[in-house]
Amino acid sequence: MYEWSEEHQAIADVVRRFVDEEIRPNLDDLEYGDLPPYGILRKMYETFGLKEMAKENFQRQLDRKKNDEAPAASRGNSNAGSTLIPTIELCKVSLGLVTSLGVSTGLAAGTIMKLGTPEQMERWGLDLMTLDKVGAWALTEPDSGSDALGGMRTTAKRDGDEYIINGNKTWITNGPYADTIVLYCKLDDGSGDDIRNRKVLTFILDKGMPGLEQSKPMRKMGQHGSPTGQVFMTDVRVGKDRLLGGSEEPRGGGRESAKDNFVAERAGVAAMSLGVIEECLRLSVDYAKSRMLWGKPIADYQLIQLKLANMEVARVNVQNLVFRHIERSAAGAIPTLAEASAMKLYSAQAACQVADEAIQLFGGNGYVSEYRVEQLLRDARVLRIYAGTDEMQVVAIAKDLVRR
Ligand SMILES: Cc1cc2nc3c(=O)[nH]c(=O)nc-3n(C[C@H](O)[C@H](O)[C@H](O)COP(=O)(O)OP(=O)(O)OC[C@H]3O[C@@H](n4cnc5c(N)ncnc54)[C@H](O)[C@@H]3O)c2cc1C
Repeated sequence: MYEWSEEHQAIADVVRRFVDEEIRPNLDDLEYGDLPPYGILRKMYETFGLKEMAKENFQRQLDRKKNDEAPAASRGNSNAGSTLIPTIELCKVSLGLVTSLGVSTGLAAGTIMKLGTPEQMERWGLDLMTLDKVGAWALTEPDSGSDALGGMRTTAKRDGDEYIINGNKTWITNGPYADTIVLYCKLDDGSGDDIRNRKVLTFILDKGMPGLEQSKPMRKMGQHGSPTGQVFMTDVRVGKDRLLGGSEEPRGGGRESAKDNFVAERAGVAAMSLGVIEECLRLSVDYAKSRMLWGKPIADYQLIQLKLANMEVARVNVQNLVFRHIERSAAGAIPTLAEASAMKLYSAQAACQVADEAIQLFGGNGYVSEYRVEQLLRDARVLRIYAGTDEMQVVAIAKDLVRR
C-alpha cells in the first residue's frame, strides 16, 4: 500500500464533513468549557452506523469465544485502514476525542472482549463497544508510572470467594465519568512475597460500587477533550464474576494482557501523530502563502521553506509507518513490542516537532488559540508520555536489539 484507496478517501471526506458540522462548533466548549466528549462521539457512532457495526462485531467475537476460536487479531484485519482514517481526521481537531474513544472502546472494551468470559462480554463488553457506556483502563498509579507492573501497589486480598481491593490509580482517561473500569492490581495472598513479583489480577468495576471513588477531571496542558482523573478503591468488595476471565490465571491475562495493550496503543499513536502532522502542514502552507512581509509571502523565504520541507518529510515517514501497519494488520502480522515502540517513538516526536515548528512559522499568531496550531502542540505533547514515555520506548527497542 502506498496511497489511500478511493474508498479510504471517501471515508475521510464524510468524516471531515462530520468534523466541520458537529465538532468544530463545539471546539471551544471541549477546550475551555469542560464539555465531556461522549455526546459528540455517540453522535458520530450513530451518524456512521458504527453502533450497528459494533453490535455485529460484538456478536462475532462472542460466537468465537463460545466456540473457542482464535480472536480476530490473529486472523488478520483487512479493515485497519478504514478504522484508522477517522482517528487521523479527528486528531486534526481534537486528539482528546480519540484518546477517550480509544481508551473506552479499544483498551477497556478490547480487554474485556479478549480475556473475559462470555458472561463478562455480555454484561460489560457490548455496552462499551456501542459507546452506550464509557470505559476506563486503570493501570498507572502515583508511584508506578513507567514501572507500572512491578511498582503497582493496589492489591486484591482474598476473602472467602470474594476479594477486597484497596489502592489508587492516577491519570486515568475517562476516569471521572467511566461507567466501567478495567482495573489492574496485585494479588495479596498473605504469603509475604515481594509485591513486585506477585500475580497481577484484572477486575471489572462499576461506577457507584461501595468504596469506589472517581475524581473530578484534572486540569492539564492539552487534550482537554479527554477527561483524565484519579480512581480510589477503599475496601471495594468484588466477587469472582468481576475477575477478568473468571480465574486468577486466565489465558493471556495479568501482565501479558497489559503488555498486549501496549502494542495496540503504540501502533495507534502513529495514526494520531499523522493527523497532527497533516493538519499542521496544511495550516502552515496556507499561512506561509498568505502572510506578507517585506512585500512578499513568507513562503518565498528559504528558512520558512525549510520548515515546510521538514514537515513534509515527517508526513511521508509517518504515513509510511501507518501504511505498513495497515498492510501487516491485513496479513495478521502483529508487531512486536519493539516494533510498536519504534513506531510510537518516531511518530510522537515527529508530531511534536512539526507542531512546534508550525507555531514558529505562524509567529505571534501561532501562540494564540484562534490559529489552532497551539492546541495541536498541546494535544500532541502527551503522545511522548502516555502509552509509555519516549524513554520507555527506547528501552523496549534496545532490549530487543541486544537480546537477538
Ligand atoms: C493525559 C494522560 C492520560 C493517561 N491515560 C492513562 C490511562 O487511561 N490509563 C493508565 O493506566 N495510565 C494513563 N496515563 C499514564 C501514563 O501512561 C503515564 O503517565 C506514563 O506511563 C508515564 O508514567 P509517569 O507519568 O509516572 O512518569 P514516570 O514513570 O515517573 O517517569 C518520569 C521520567 O522518568 C523517565 N524514566 C522512567 N524510568 C526510566 C528508565 N528506566 N530509564 C530512563 N528514564 C526513565 C520517564 O521516561 C520520564 O521521563 C495517562 C497519562 C496522561 C498524562
